[in-house]
Amino acid sequence: MSRSAITLKSRKEIASRANFRCEYCLLSERVSYFSFHIEHIRSIKHGGNNKLENLAYCCPDCNFYKGTDIGTFVGSELNLVRFFNPRIDIWQEHFEIQDAKIDGKSEIGIATVQIFKFNEIDRLIFRKQLVELGLYP
Ligand SMILES: [Zn+2]
Repeated sequence: MSRSAITLKSRKEIASRANFRCEYCLLSERVSYFSFHIEHIRSIKHGGNNKLENLAYCCPDCNFYKGTDIGTFVGSELNLVRFFNPRIDIWQEHFEIQDAKIDGKSEIGIATVQIFKFNEIDRLIFRKQLVELGLYP
């Protein structure tokens, strides 16, 4: 996966477009210990490119779990569902937050929550603390 074509100017534009939040789990970069990543929504491996409409601002956890995947199976092994695409999908239509836990409201949401491990215990505890501090979502 080549990232060399993503310029500093593009990185800044992508971060600003996302309001410096992960476009998947909505974590704010300012409360993260780690720098966020520029993520390929459609991975290079699957024909993606470095154009702005294929790039998302992404926390390290979401990017790690997504990897080069673009979807997964929901419900049955015959039902292949793509992940949430922050360029074309509206977050609130696919997810809801209940007590810091993120649930999928659609098959796209369910597929994304499942593979990105939004509710892994460490992430959930951290989000609960952020909610209490008024820093999430
Ligand atoms: Zn995230």
